[in-house]
Amino acid sequence: MNAEGFAAWVRHAADLVSADAERLTRLDAAIGDGDHGHNLDRGFRAAVDALPEDAPPGRVLVAAGRAIVSKTGGASGPLYGTALRRAGKALGDAQDVDAAGLGGALRAALDGVQDLGKAAEGDKTMVDALAPAVAAYEAALAGGSDLPGCVRAAAEAAARGADDTVPMQARKGRASYLGPRSVGHLDPGASSTALLLRGLADVTGE
Ligand code: ADP
Ligand code: MG
Ligand code: MG
Repeated sequence: MNAEGFAAWVRHAADLVSADAERLTRLDAAIGDGDHGHNLDRGFRAAVDALPEDAPPGRVLVAAGRAIVSKTGGASGPLYGTALRRAGKALGDAQDVDAAGLGGALRAALDGVQDLGKAAEGDKTMVDALAPAVAAYEAALAGGSDLPGCVRAAAEAAARGADDTVPMQARKGRASYLGPRSVGHLDPGASSTALLLRGLADVTGE
């Protein structure tokens, strides 16, 4: 996957987020403050505007992450921005990223989210989509899958992981203020993580 592939993902992710912004915001209205879709929409538009020319994949992701940190409000901006910057740093100066390289970037993104947000699996956050996605990616890689196959496995696991947040009680972020009343709702950040990984599968799938 080259720099144009990563830039294509950022542009496609921005389109998916924009199309889904109302739904994500509605999810956040139920257990948060009703801004998640609009936060991410603003951030991904800024990421598209910040895409560098003639830069390797790592720099594409770092630039997108910086733009998201600076333009996305709320908890999710620093978390997604950190995820992208850490993923970009993990890619280094490689011009072409293979399946193992992308797996390392995804693992670095998860580590970045957890270093910053301190959420574990089961806390009803984006980690509940991202952690199973990274695990599924690594399992597919170990099983000999190619990059599109690994990404597909990750996207499917993220979607299941997001669905699994419904019965959870939130222990991190704004939703945790609701205590047991957060049970029975899909976590907006887990849902957006699943969306972003579906977008990656769209651009890497043949
Ligand atoms: P805010 O809650 O500040 O308005 P957003 O609405 O944009 O921010 O994002 C909310 C989402 O951020 C939640 O649904 C959750 O998935 C994620 N989130 C919040 N806190 C954390 C955390 N500490 N670690 C991981 N994800 C978190
Ligand atoms: Mg919110
Ligand atoms: Mg907010």
